[in-house]
Amino acid sequence: MDWNDSAEQQAFRQQVRSFIEAKVPERYRRDTNGHPSAFDWMEDRKSDDPEARRISKEWVATLGEKGWVAPQWPKEYGGAGLSPIEQFIYKMEMTLAEVPQGLPAGVAMLGPTLIIHGTEEQKQQHIPKILTGEVVWAQGYSEPEAGSDLAALKTRATRDGDEYVINGQKIWTSGGHYADWLFALVRTDPEAPKHRGVTFLLMDITTPGISIRPLVNMADEHHFNETFFENVRVPVSNRVGEENRGWYVGMTLLDFERSNITGAIAAKREITRLIDFSKGAGAGKTRLHDVASVRDEVASRYIESEVMYNFSLRIISIQSSGMVPNYEASVSKLFGSELTQKVANTGVKACGLYGNLWDEDDERSAMRAGFTRAYVRSVSATIAGGTSEIQRGVIATRGLGLPRG
Ligand SMILES: Cc1cc2nc3c(=O)[nH]c(=O)nc-3n(C[C@H](O)[C@H](O)[C@H](O)COP(=O)(O)OP(=O)(O)OC[C@H]3O[C@@H](n4cnc5c(N)ncnc54)[C@H](O)[C@@H]3O)c2cc1C
Repeated sequence: MDWNDSAEQQAFRQQVRSFIEAKVPERYRRDTNGHPSAFDWMEDRKSDDPEARRISKEWVATLGEKGWVAPQWPKEYGGAGLSPIEQFIYKMEMTLAEVPQGLPAGVAMLGPTLIIHGTEEQKQQHIPKILTGEVVWAQGYSEPEAGSDLAALKTRATRDGDEYVINGQKIWTSGGHYADWLFALVRTDPEAPKHRGVTFLLMDITTPGISIRPLVNMADEHHFNETFFENVRVPVSNRVGEENRGWYVGMTLLDFERSNITGAIAAKREITRLIDFSKGAGAGKTRLHDVASVRDEVASRYIESEVMYNFSLRIISIQSSGMVPNYEASVSKLFGSELTQKVANTGVKACGLYGNLWDEDDERSAMRAGFTRAYVRSVSATIAGGTSEIQRGVIATRGLGLPRG
């Protein structure tokens, strides 16, 4: 395998770099200690500050000119039609530059699903607004009693003429408070086997009867929510696919960017940042100089970030040969999310007592408390998007061919 860019890939990489250099608004650039957040531009979208709203809108429009709001979508739908390796390069450069990359649910999940299963009207109504950032989507799948076993979902939709009437509750709705629309799996036939009585619905989040209540995470941040439905009326025309066949629609939410290159780049970047800090301004605030076991850990994390990079390349090479990664995606998710936690853990340990300071602006904190915050934030990494136990189950059965437990 040739690890180097071909001439075309090198040219594309340069194109992305020049774009970043010239076009990323100052507001979304990070200093060397910055904390990127995929939510930045979405927060800005609904900010009270008109300037923030303007910058957010212009940034999405700038990306849109190149089809880079949805680089993985086909060109006919407003994407850039990038090949897997080009997507990889694009994502890699954006992550290296720490450019916030928002729009996750609409671009990564709903858009590709509508392209495959949506009616012409649904495509025309929703796809352009995803690309302009006019409408942001949230995902209503999980429920208090349905997470890993998603098919146990109970939120009930009862048909009443041309409408469904929905009652129930979703949980962990990421970005629900920024979103304009929600896609959800609901139960339309409680008698059917659990995968068969499920329907996929689209709803305007302002529909009467929908209430979004904040869940504040252990980092004291508001990213996800509980979503309640009380006699919510949704037109039958908002159904994607057939009634009771929504499970199969819902499972189409193909994540085209499955390589987790973002995780590989971020892990290496944070470790490199720690090493640089220990050699410079942070010489007195890290234990890398005098504790061999900490140095050893840092070296291990660096090596693991290289391993993660290679897992990412493997996924890309599978996609490039026209195949869909299966258990390999689970390996990448498992290794990447655990690495994220380990990097944060090592960083806190390396900063010793300074690693306990939470306040980013406290001059005594190390690296603006980046590792401390990452330590707390990264707890969810091994839960979101399928827990580590579920990934291990997939690797055991599909990858290793072990019997089901
Ligand atoms: C940051 C974050 C954002 C999220 N965003 C969204 C969102 O936007 N929309 C949405 O719908 N959901 C979202 N989720 C929910 C996420 O999909 C679920 O948390 C996840 O699927 C796990 O489900 P659960 O929390 O109900 O845990 P459970 O399924 O109850 O699991 C509890 C424990 O049991 C283990 N376990 C369960 N089943 C098995 C098994 N078969 N074998 C071995 N171990 C098992 C799990 O690994 C876990 O340790 C988000 C979660 C997080 C943390």
